[in-house]
Amino acid sequence: MPELPEVEALRIGLTKYLPGRTITKVEVLKPKLISGRGNIRRASSKKTTTFIHGLTNATFKQIERRAKNLKFIFKDGQIMLVHLKMTGQLVYVGPRSRVDGGHPIKESNRELPNKQTRIIFHLDKGTLYYNDTRQFGYLLYYPDEAAFQKENHFELHGPEPLNPEFTEEYFVSALKKRTGVVKPVLMGQEVVVGLGNIYADEVCFAAGVRPTRKISSLKRGEIGRLYWAIRSILKRAIELGGSSVSDHRLADGSRGNYAREHKVYGRSGEACLVCGSLLKTVQCGGRTTVYCPRCQR
Ligand SMILES: [Zn+2]
Repeated sequence: MPELPEVEALRIGLTKYLPGRTITKVEVLKPKLISGRGNIRRASSKKTTTFIHGLTNATFKQIERRAKNLKFIFKDGQIMLVHLKMTGQLVYVGPRSRVDGGHPIKESNRELPNKQTRIIFHLDKGTLYYNDTRQFGYLLYYPDEAAFQKENHFELHGPEPLNPEFTEEYFVSALKKRTGVVKPVLMGQEVVVGLGNIYADEVCFAAGVRPTRKISSLKRGEIGRLYWAIRSILKRAIELGGSSVSDHRLADGSRGNYAREHKVYGRSGEACLVCGSLLKTVQCGGRTTVYCPRCQR
């Protein structure tokens, strides 16, 4: 699943080419994906018609990101919200350029469209493909900002980790209100957005905190180290274009570089880079979790 740094890399990549491009034709091959959120969605022909009519002849203005959502804003005020979920991928193919990001789909390297292609936006220059193997992703259309705001998409989202409102004081007080275990709370998006399996493990290692610790047992100093680790690790990962660990591809088609800096993720059974102990694996919050039994307490 693409995490915050990978989605941000995709946003930056698409922003080089899409603003100013006009959609000339929309093909909705899988109406379910534009008909709502959640795993059980019924295709709606009314929504499909609205989606196609609303976006045909629309010109891209800018692309924003909130958590792992991409918000495409068009010149006449229309909005398309895209979430890639587990296996979504966006590929822009232009006259002399290609940008792809999200889940790596092998067929997409050979041909486009392919059997994983769900939505096609034909542009005045180039084509934008939405591909999705497991089809959990969604693309939602709104005629304007007011209609978008009404849905309150981001109401359960905590602050962006690199924005000024994510302060250490905020983090301390937000954790005080939580029960449960460190890793699932970090991944829950309500205290802070953007951390998934990879970055939650890396943050806990950098902070010297076991992912399985109870929130209520954390000392003030440990919370401070977690805060510092969240900011510095995500900042570094965005600078490097994310972690393309086997299942992510970057916006420019290259592999992300942050994977080279992983200290624990994907290194189960290998030696800790700090103390040499063998890294251990546990299940935590339903996810495979790697930690150092000596460096993390
Ligand atoms: Zn260690």
